[in-house]
Amino acid sequence: MAKISINLATGSFQKEEIIVGIDLGTTNSLVAFINPDKNPQVINDSGKGILVPSVVYFNNQNETVVGNEAKEFLTTDPSNTIFSVKRLLGRSYKDVAEHKDIFSYKIIDDDSDSLVKIQAGNRFYTPIELSAEILKELKARAEHALKTPVNRAVITVPAYFNDSQRQATRDAGKLAGLDVMRIVNEPTAASLAYGIGLDPSQQKTIAVYDLGGGTFDVSILQIQNGIFEVLATNGNTYLGGDDFDRAILNHWIEKNNLDIKVLSEDNILMQTLRLQAEAAKKALSTQNLYNEKVGEIWCTLDNQTFEQLISAKVEETITACKNALKDADLTASDIDEVILVGGSTRTPFVKQAVEDFFGKKPQDNINPDEVVALGAAIQADVLAGNRSDILLLDVTPLSLGIETMGGLMDVIIARNSKVPTKAGRQYTTSVDGQVNMKISVYQGERDLVKENRKLAEFDLKGIPAMPAGLPKVDINFLLNADGILTVQAIELRSGVKQEIEITPSYGLSDDTVEKMLLDSIEHAKSDVEQRMLIEARSEGEQLLYTAERFIEKHAEHLTAEEIAKTKVHIEALKSALATQEKDTILKKADELNEFTRPFAERVMDAAISTAMKGKKIE
Ligand code: AMP
Repeated sequence: MAKISINLATGSFQKEEIIVGIDLGTTNSLVAFINPDKNPQVINDSGKGILVPSVVYFNNQNETVVGNEAKEFLTTDPSNTIFSVKRLLGRSYKDVAEHKDIFSYKIIDDDSDSLVKIQAGNRFYTPIELSAEILKELKARAEHALKTPVNRAVITVPAYFNDSQRQATRDAGKLAGLDVMRIVNEPTAASLAYGIGLDPSQQKTIAVYDLGGGTFDVSILQIQNGIFEVLATNGNTYLGGDDFDRAILNHWIEKNNLDIKVLSEDNILMQTLRLQAEAAKKALSTQNLYNEKVGEIWCTLDNQTFEQLISAKVEETITACKNALKDADLTASDIDEVILVGGSTRTPFVKQAVEDFFGKKPQDNINPDEVVALGAAIQADVLAGNRSDILLLDVTPLSLGIETMGGLMDVIIARNSKVPTKAGRQYTTSVDGQVNMKISVYQGERDLVKENRKLAEFDLKGIPAMPAGLPKVDINFLLNADGILTVQAIELRSGVKQEIEITPSYGLSDDTVEKMLLDSIEHAKSDVEQRMLIEARSEGEQLLYTAERFIEKHAEHLTAEEIAKTKVHIEALKSALATQEKDTILKKADELNEFTRPFAERVMDAAISTAMKGKKIE
């Protein structure tokens, strides 16, 4: 049965609820929808403009102002004007400390491991709450422009966002009163906006080059059977158009012989010159010379000088493209389409550098500020059931697993697995009568969990008391299309079950992911040796435990001499365990095992004959 809802604003019937697409950006955010002509369209609410600057201002009554109006307070009240909050989403203070100078507001640093908080006035805010303010503004604008309530959305995130950052984005949506239908990768949305991937028979490899105001990333995607797969991403989260503005500003300071010290004390003049630099940069996207005067200061710039000023930065983006291709095991000629995203790709020199590197003209017909939101609207339309055949597939950048005996990492979902994915394994208890099982979830490539990153820990409680090894505990990992992990543990004999959705205590920066991967390669050999020793120790300890219990419990089936000899073997294994030598431990464990095996058989036979007593054998 089709749902029919009534639009209270217009009094008309509406067939289906609109799901909007939101590009929640570092500098600017915007919202798009599919119009009645079935085309994606960005929302411009009563001429307020399409882009909503991602800036939140708190005035002294703790009232919130968002967007252009808030941006005006960047110079007059910087400590209460929050910008670039996307950089802080799902991050700990430790993650952002290196770049803390770019923030003019206060980031709380008392606990460097937990998620960051921001102080404005006398209140503390989480990046989730601040992002929610931006989303609320977008929701309100969409509702006003479309004259209908907007409750559902697709929100985009960079392809390199980790689980924690995706979860934080989803939570921000929830807090803004939005049901977040899907978190979509920005490069995937950009491809969709160009219609790439909409035809299921199409097979293409795409490079999405995204240079915004403060961040750069490049993603290599493969599209096959309507499935998008992120093959590789690379970039620099602190490189963008703002660097171009700064380079121009420094050039003018030098040309006009300005005293930096004097200048840096004049906030207003500095800000005016910075805006002038941005204006010059934008003008040079369509003309060859810019010439203005601010007081006595000449702000002159020609294209050639501009290109010299930014060439090192642009080169850095091309190096990132090279690295992404290398990671994807591809060369530039394997790329079928190059897509440009982000306002800074309007600079002709940037466009040319991308074209030269990939050897083909990039797609730039769609406004690079709008392309991601437009694609998100298309994805929203797919989820609304209006288009079929489109799926999304990403890969997980790091392995996910749990801690097993001796602190070993047992990988359940391997790095580079395609998501959504599901995997599971069966475990058991190691001690008799164990009724709780601690399940610790880790992310990383090292063999020892202590070298990896802990995501969560929980107890599976209420396992009925059974001998060690008897309970069957299934642990299932479900990594959904948004990259969010659900871990489920179930004891099969009793049906006891526990499930958690993982919101890691803090996220990983790109650099950390890279470091973790490099570390795993560097330590591969020592990790293997350590793993073998730990496995030998676990085996030895388990055997000691069973053997000691066995001679205690079944003394009546053994002779005094057998018991004495078993004890000698037990002592030998104990000493071996103290040596930390894998081979000695295994040898002594083997000897104990061999010596006691006939006893175990004897006890088993006795048990069977007792069980058979009174039963007729036909
Ligand atoms: P985004 O983060 O994608 O909104 O991009 C914003 C960046 O694009 C800022 O650094 C802007 O100065 C830059 N930008 C906007 N328009 C132009 C233009 N016409 N030419 C060059 N850069 C531009």
